[in-house]
Amino acid sequence: MTETPESGYQVLARKYRPASFADLIGQDAMVRTLKNAFEADRIAQAFMLTGIRGTGKTTTARIIAKGLNCIGPDGQGGPTTDPCGMCENCVAIAEGRHVDVMEMDAASNTGVQNIRDAIIETVSYRAATARYKIFIIDEVHMLSTSAFNALLKTLEEPPAHVKFLFATTEIRKVPVTVLSRCQRFDLRRIEPEVMIAHLQKVAGLEGATIAEDALALITRAAEGSVRDAISLLDQAISHGAGETTADQVRAMLGLADRGRVLDLFEAIMGGDAAAALAELGAQYADGADPLAVLRDLAEITHWLSVIKITPEAADDPTAAPEERVRGRGLAGKLPMRVLTRMWQMLLKALEEVSLAPNAMMAAEMAVIRLTHVADLPTPGDLVKKLQDSPPPRAQAPARQPAAAPRGPEAQLVPPRAPSGGAQPVPALAPEASLARFPTFASVVAFLEEQRQIKLLVEVRHGIRLISYSPGRIAFRPADGASASLAADLGRFLTQATGARWGISVENAEGAPTLAEQADAEKAALEAELADHPLMQAVRDAFPAARITAIRSRESLAAEAGLDALPESEETDPDWDPFEDD
Ligand SMILES: [Zn+2]
Repeated sequence: MTETPESGYQVLARKYRPASFADLIGQDAMVRTLKNAFEADRIAQAFMLTGIRGTGKTTTARIIAKGLNCIGPDGQGGPTTDPCGMCENCVAIAEGRHVDVMEMDAASNTGVQNIRDAIIETVSYRAATARYKIFIIDEVHMLSTSAFNALLKTLEEPPAHVKFLFATTEIRKVPVTVLSRCQRFDLRRIEPEVMIAHLQKVAGLEGATIAEDALALITRAAEGSVRDAISLLDQAISHGAGETTADQVRAMLGLADRGRVLDLFEAIMGGDAAAALAELGAQYADGADPLAVLRDLAEITHWLSVIKITPEAADDPTAAPEERVRGRGLAGKLPMRVLTRMWQMLLKALEEVSLAPNAMMAAEMAVIRLTHVADLPTPGDLVKKLQDSPPPRAQAPARQPAAAPRGPEAQLVPPRAPSGGAQPVPALAPEASLARFPTFASVVAFLEEQRQIKLLVEVRHGIRLISYSPGRIAFRPADGASASLAADLGRFLTQATGARWGISVENAEGAPTLAEQADAEKAALEAELADHPLMQAVRDAFPAARITAIRSRESLAAEAGLDALPESEETDPDWDPFEDD
């Protein structure tokens, strides 16, 4: 990397920020509706633009603002969906300095007070120089109740010279009273085909050559956000001289080779633990992040499940042709119950690996467990077994290992590595260091590897993650979080990784903290126990049966007057089918 990625980012993302509706990609429906409204002179008082981050909400708002106030190159034009980009209004709005276009961010602290005052005070005055006085309010769902009330008053009796352009990522948090007075546009995630074509165009304009499968990887990683895709493209182009290849992009994103992930997936589904471990080990040796490998396995599981239901999903443009063939084949072979089970177990494994002191060790344990997924009995099989054998407690059935459920969760919890850290952590090469952190979870895993216990606790309890990209973390501090958390984390990561990390505190709501997520998952596990195949089988076989208590082996032993229940698998006289050991 010869240039700093930051300067690269800014340049491309800004350079290709759409300036007109014609530049907006993948939002044809919205553009058509707007055009019709403008042409029929039925321009709404307020617009609500909603969609995930990076779909261009504020960019669209600025284009609408230009269209509303454009006077054309000759100074005589009216409102248009084709703003000229040259008149004084267009230029000033593009540069964010138009006196009649007020851009505010409800997610920032200062914004909230200002917005209420600005709405109350300035709405009654005419626009200073332009046709309309325009309020662009980003993350409008964050407004205080008093600001919403001020807004509502204005929207109920709208002065003709005022227009509102709202943007939000969380439409459900906007009061219906406000929503009902807006023309709403849902900005869609960009379809992969459209995104790949767009990236190709930008790369072409930049004089860069980048392989199509590399663009497919970027498209998949950007998850529908044009801005993210352009930033990644920018990084990818600055990485390589000559053609940028899929391998380079894969390394940049910290992804494993998808073909090899399919190999691993097949070994797991074939129940071949030795081959699966060998493949995982080989990928690790080649620098793949264990967490990313498991995430890819989850992605493949999801993809195959979708193909089973919608076979056309195999024609995913972000998948290489041979992957599509393999995808179709696997989806045809694997029953849905195996895929859903695999998915559940992978979600659990992902959490374990992200929390384990040694990610690779935990990943190996997870893979071993996953190799049993294909021979889990179906609820139907279990019922048959139950019906064929006497009721469990009446006689002492010999326990049949084949019928024993391989517990999805309770069993085989990966052991914690001793605190001395048995396995070496791969050394960090400075240029590759950011690529090692494709996700926030990988940062957390790194803190664990580095034994940053205090920081780790603060991160797990104090960070409500708002956004993450390698080298950048934005969060909202949870109640009680250390005031210096952002600074502490930034300092440590910058020192330990040799790359620059920007950690910012922002006011958006953010995700639940990791600690909260772990609590929620524990509750979900308890709920899932009720859905365990064996429990379902029991309910099917004995419809009147209900769960009255969940007991541990210890309490059962105490009831039986024993120190402990016998451990022998074959002769266990009191085998309890409710138990999952
Ligand atoms: Zn203009």
